[in-house]
Amino acid sequence: MAKIGFIGLGNMGGPMAINLVKAGHEVRVFDLSPDAIATLVEVGATAVNAVEEVCDNADFVVSMLPAGKHVKAIYTGENGLINHLDKNTLVIDCSTIDAESAQYVGKALGEAGIKFVDAPVSGGVAGAAAGTLTFIVGGSTACFELANIILPNMGKNIYHAGDIGAGQVAKICNNMLLSILMAGTSEALQMGIDHGLDPKVLSEIMLNSSGRNWTLELYNPCPDVLENVPSSNGYKPGFMVDLMAKDLGLAQQAAQQTNSATPMGALAKNLYNLMQNQGKGAEDFSAIFKLYSEK
Ligand code: NAD
Repeated sequence: MAKIGFIGLGNMGGPMAINLVKAGHEVRVFDLSPDAIATLVEVGATAVNAVEEVCDNADFVVSMLPAGKHVKAIYTGENGLINHLDKNTLVIDCSTIDAESAQYVGKALGEAGIKFVDAPVSGGVAGAAAGTLTFIVGGSTACFELANIILPNMGKNIYHAGDIGAGQVAKICNNMLLSILMAGTSEALQMGIDHGLDPKVLSEIMLNSSGRNWTLELYNPCPDVLENVPSSNGYKPGFMVDLMAKDLGLAQQAAQQTNSATPMGALAKNLYNLMQNQGKGAEDFSAIFKLYSEK
């Protein structure tokens, strides 16, 4: 069994760390939220007093933080973990961040002899809890193989996308598509409702027609079509609007670098920015349905 340090025990990191504990690993945890730490201690993880203590004799350090600035600060900032990590440790950053930040951190750690992969995930909080996440890994083949020792304890599909940063590029392509599907599904459902259709029946019809997609099937944005999804629970996240807006900003940044045309992604970014301006940043991203349904 491995010794694992885990930083960032939020909506995703919390259940991921629980699965590592359940798999029998020795897990030391750190978060800024005492409540998040307490939940992990209850299931058998060990709390540390200071973030650098997660590094002590660790085989792996896993992080699941909001954005690039947090990841850079934790690893390469003032008194960053770069000063505390051992050369035998593999750092696995699962946060969704810009590829440049991942490459910056990976290069800095690499120059200090410390191994690093970016390994953003897809599958949402349900996938994190069930241990069925998709991991999209960027890094050397040797580090990918090493990461594969523990990633199956948290996920089902594990892909090697390329070098450091490639995991992040694949992840933001996916999230840009996800946001477009969420907006489109909301738009179609509300048009049906406006014409008197039952959203459950309409969802069933589209699920068996060519409009079938993940948001319609597993994360339906219309309240009470599915149980146990954020839309049927007051749009409690889940995956926050603020995080989707961040990912769409990263997607536009990436598109600009290569002159890629992403008109639908730009539109989705604007819709999510509008929600942020309406004070809905902390709601689940499926709350975009309300842009269409609230008259
Ligand atoms: P979250 O806000 O619920 O969790 C982030 C956690 O990091 C919080 O508990 C916070 O206290 C902690 N944190 C922040 N700064 C810290 C620091 N300096 N030291 C220690 N802990 C710190 O966010 P989340 O939904 O768990 O998302 C985390 C990452 O995963 C994001 O990059 C997000 O884009 C990505 N992601 C989220 C989902 C989802 O469905 N929620 C799905 C895939 C990927």
